[in-house]
Amino acid sequence: MEKIFDSHSHYNDDSFKSDYKEILKHIQDSGVGTVMNVGADIHSSRLAIKQAEENDFMYCSVGIHPHDAIQARDEAIMAELEEMIANPKVKAVGEAGLDYHYDDSWSPEVQKEAFIKQIQLANKYNKPLIIHTRDAMQDTLEILNEYPLKSGVVHCYSGSRESCKQLVKMGLYIGFTGVITFKNARRALESMKVVPLDRLLIETDCPYMAPEPNRGKRCDSSMLHYVAQKMADELGLEKDEIIRITRENAERLFNII
Ligand SMILES: [Zn+2]
Repeated sequence: MEKIFDSHSHYNDDSFKSDYKEILKHIQDSGVGTVMNVGADIHSSRLAIKQAEENDFMYCSVGIHPHDAIQARDEAIMAELEEMIANPKVKAVGEAGLDYHYDDSWSPEVQKEAFIKQIQLANKYNKPLIIHTRDAMQDTLEILNEYPLKSGVVHCYSGSRESCKQLVKMGLYIGFTGVITFKNARRALESMKVVPLDRLLIETDCPYMAPEPNRGKRCDSSMLHYVAQKMADELGLEKDEIIRITRENAERLFNII
């Protein structure tokens, strides 16, 4: 059986604190071969590295999520982040980007500044950038046009098909979560179909985004079987092929041999 690569997870999240070891064993038993553990601020980035160092099948990224964009104005934090990138377990920068969904978020100016700094960091160290974008596609595309990335992935894709085409044209990979199993997933599924097979990734974004039939529960990487099955059905392929293709794509993107 092909092994699953979960290209975006947060095992550094508090919700995994109590049964973290059991969950990691459970997901490996279920056929998950590799996970990317994603940092979202300086604290969770430190923990992502610690966890990746403790687990052979885990790699990590370090970065500042738009929800914590203000941290990118702190020189000490940015210096620590830059140092962390040299760690051999750190395979990407991020997640970074723009999120205009909530009214109480940092201003677009603060978010853009953090995003651009991390694009530059990713390019400087030849690492891919993990991009988070929500209700901010126009600004995201503008920044990526102005500050082109050497490589990266737009994770948990939720935008339009047209924007998806533009991101693919920029050479980026596109990650899909359990959202594609939801009843109202038409938009995500239409976008998925314009992504070349060699740019597709599957991800949980756990503990969030549990796929059907587990929607609303705490998500973990074992649930990617549902996401892979849905993707396979939509693209007319076998589930095992999707698991193999998305794993090879993730290994290429994150430079994992
Ligand atoms: Zn995430």
